[in-house]
Amino acid sequence: MSNFLGHALDSVRRSALDAARRALPQRCELCAGASGSELLCRGCARSLPRLGPACPVCASPTNGGEVCGQCIAHRPPFDATVAAFAYAFPVDRLMHAFKYHGRLALAEWGAQAILAARERRGLAPPARLIALPLSHERQRERGYNQAFEIGRVLARQLSIALVREGVRRERASPPQAALPWAQRAKNVRGAFECALDLKGLSVAIVDDVMTTGASLAELAGTLKRAGATRVENWIVARTLPPA
Ligand SMILES: [Zn+2]
Ligand SMILES: [Zn+2]
Repeated sequence: MSNFLGHALDSVRRSALDAARRALPQRCELCAGASGSELLCRGCARSLPRLGPACPVCASPTNGGEVCGQCIAHRPPFDATVAAFAYAFPVDRLMHAFKYHGRLALAEWGAQAILAARERRGLAPPARLIALPLSHERQRERGYNQAFEIGRVLARQLSIALVREGVRRERASPPQAALPWAQRAKNVRGAFECALDLKGLSVAIVDDVMTTGASLAELAGTLKRAGATRVENWIVARTLPPA
């Protein structure tokens, strides 16, 4: 089937599923209590781990929301990070269900959380959204890219173009999760390729979880070399650095 037709059918099927889901009373994804038309009940939604004051560049916690020492010493290629939650219980459970168990309805929840966090920051909208790409192999294995699913919802809600082609992950590096933090930057060096001309454009990279930010930094550098003037990370959850 052509790629185009694949995308079109995909989005028809998704919209139908979304509509069906919203029409029925929901069970909370976390506690199975009644949650109306939402994925989470109000109590669970309120109790999710929020990020406190954090570095505007990389979203690491800082006392008063100032730029962190790491970003002052080595300015990363991205300009800002918008993160909705801390990656802790029960957000980790939700993200895991989304990423590994095909709970695609959680893309909507993740996107809404990013939208709310973005609104609090009052940032100007970017010209393009780019989902952090998976390698071809991993995408085939999983059948979808969770970042792209979130990006799709954001693109629709903000009327910003979501890039579908031209940005690729070149090779399947070992999963970042399997590596110690210090090795992650090396592991992703040269991992991305951008065939697009982004001259003069501001871009937001969409992803589910930011850990060290090594993949995001690598992609941001690649996009800047393709001409992007500004790169932001839009993330559902930020892993807090080891104490
Ligand atoms: Zn609940
Ligand atoms: Zn920082």
